[in-house]
Amino acid sequence: MAIDVGESDFLFVLTGAGVSAESGIPTFRGAGGLWEGYRIEEVACPEAWEADPELVWKFYSWRRQKALACRPNPAHVALAEVEKRLGERMVICTQNVDELHEAAGSRRVLHMHGRLFQSRCEKCERPPFPDTNSYETLAAIPRCACGGRIRPHICWFGEVPFHMEEIFAALGRTTVFVSIGTSGVVYPAAAFVQSVRARCGKTVYIGLEAPENLPLFAERYLGKAGELVPRLLAISDL
Ligand code: NAD
Ligand code: ZN
Repeated sequence: MAIDVGESDFLFVLTGAGVSAESGIPTFRGAGGLWEGYRIEEVACPEAWEADPELVWKFYSWRRQKALACRPNPAHVALAEVEKRLGERMVICTQNVDELHEAAGSRRVLHMHGRLFQSRCEKCERPPFPDTNSYETLAAIPRCACGGRIRPHICWFGEVPFHMEEIFAALGRTTVFVSIGTSGVVYPAAAFVQSVRARCGKTVYIGLEAPENLPLFAERYLGKAGELVPRLLAISDL
């Protein structure tokens, strides 16, 4: 059982919360959409930031603290090993904001929904910067030189995902598309598989349960990413 990636293939790996679940980062599903008491729509949209920046930063500070203690699992490690062999013929596009792909050694990673350990100004074009701090009160939220407040570098609901040009360029070259641990309900990521299908590429889903867009995948492997990804990808004949 292996996913065949040949010498002229380009591999596009789309990852979601499921790839980090075995590292201890909770997924979004279940528990009524609540994350330890946080209702996602009250902390992950521009309206929430306008209404209550303190609550938004409390949520992301909590996520930072939680993620700092997490380590890559065998799925992240296997993907990094595949990249060592494929080099520029592979990209990981992740919906995750954690750094676990990088921690495992992956270098070609596009964080379409932003990065938990980066912050940026809410107003000006100053680029995002590394930030592992927690901000628990309104007074603790730093301000940029321009006067704007510093916000998490996260793509909130209603905002445009990052790196879309690079993502579509990569999809245009993709011959093997592997989606791992994503429920297939959040767009545009959930539609990437369609563009690969339209060009007759191989489409594979790996994850615990059937995602919403399962019928679009030609090959499906249901189970834990930490067990399936090393078996399906790392030992394949690259
Ligand atoms: P998700 O939580 O919607 O789905 C996670 C998927 O991973 C599920 O299909 C689950 O079956 C699977 N999974 C769980 N454990 C697994 C394991 N050990 N191995 C393999 N698969 C496993 O997460 P998502 O699809 O990444 O969400 C997409 C994006 O939606 C997120 O990046 C985020 O930006 C955004 N978001 C969604 C919500 C929401 O409520 N839908 C909330 C906040 C943010
Ligand atoms: Zn600024």
